Amino acid sequence: MITDENEFLPEVVYEEIENKDNTESMEIRGDSKCPCCGYLTIPNKGDAIGYICPVCMWEIDLFIENDEEPSDLNHGLSLKEATKNYQKFGAVLQRLKQYCREPKEYE
Ligand SMILES: [Zn+2]
Repeated sequence: MITDENEFLPEVVYEEIENKDNTESMEIRGDSKCPCCGYLTIPNKGDAIGYICPVCMWEIDLFIENDEEPSDLNHGLSLKEATKNYQKFGAVLQRLKQYCREPKEYE
């Protein structure tokens, strides 16, 4: 029936607009703890090399074998140093703090 289709169309348009505004759904939701800040920000079960934690700016480096080994992906910082910096500045490096976001409730 034509009248039913006409009633359906405006609803579809409305949903598209709603999704565009919903930036939350565009973000990658993590399922693993960031080794630096400890929030659940890392996707793909932590197997996400090069992924940068949005909370502390630690870049996932799967090549370091322990938390004292300098990470090439993180300006030569070791995970231990980065964690210390995060506790002090709220980011792996003080100058990166401006790019960090607050952790979400579910993280
Ligand atoms: Zn982090």
